[in-house]
Amino acid sequence: LLLSLLLSLTVFTFATWASDDLPKQKFDYQSDVTRLRKIVINSLYSHRDVFLRELISNANDALEKLRLTSLTDKEVLEGAEQLNITIKAFPDENGVGHIVITDTGIGMTPEELASNLGTLAKSGTSEFLAKAENSDGTGTGNLIGAFGVGFYSSFLVADRVYVASRAAKSAKNPNPIQYVFSSSAEESSFGIYPDPRGNNLGRGTEITLVLKPDALEYLSTSRLTELIQKHSSFSSTFPIYLFTQK
Ligand code: ADP
Ligand code: MG
Repeated sequence: LLLSLLLSLTVFTFATWASDDLPKQKFDYQSDVTRLRKIVINSLYSHRDVFLRELISNANDALEKLRLTSLTDKEVLEGAEQLNITIKAFPDENGVGHIVITDTGIGMTPEELASNLGTLAKSGTSEFLAKAENSDGTGTGNLIGAFGVGFYSSFLVADRVYVASRAAKSAKNPNPIQYVFSSSAEESSFGIYPDPRGNNLGRGTEITLVLKPDALEYLSTSRLTELIQKHSSFSSTFPIYLFTQK
């Protein structure tokens, strides 16, 4: 693990792509997702640190998929040369905290955004749901460790999550278009729309967490460094760059 720390980063412009006025296609979460999200949000408050481990492990998986695919298909490397993870943490001009986790991995098409983030394809999830719903809450933390709640742990610390993604180039998809998945912790639906910034990622996925007002501790350099080292030093084989604001 290479953790490079750059303090006092520049001014961030939080561009219009996150605007709620953009026309989007609306989708309802699969009912199991709604159940799982409720459990995660309501019973894992004391385990909310896990969000960073889960997002870094997803970024790492996406980079590993890209690397493996590139062994037989060089084309997928186009768009972004480096294979890495970037984490940026900053308050906007209104004091709202943002954490942006970007990887240059395999990325997702809009169809994959909807199916990977809007449905539960994983086996074992219904078992998890049954156990978690029958537990008094005290055992849920252990269940999380065993099953991993994955992406939905974002909603432990974020009121709203934006996932912008551009899939890797392939013969089947020679000109991938960058899309945004947008969801709030409350809604039982999510939106998908073409990213108004265009294909600025080159390739990969950018997850923007709009932090809950009580989760601003995660903007701190020492807190983020601690979590990255605690949870992720073993699980990431790609460099992680951390940018925070002084
Ligand atoms: P799991 O990682 O156990 O499959 P998650 O809830 O963490 O479950 O993620 C769900 C799915 O969303 C992943 O399997 C993957 O297909 C997709 N996904 C999540 N994050 C990313 C990412 N950064 N890049 C590409 N795909 C991702
Ligand atoms: Mg995961």
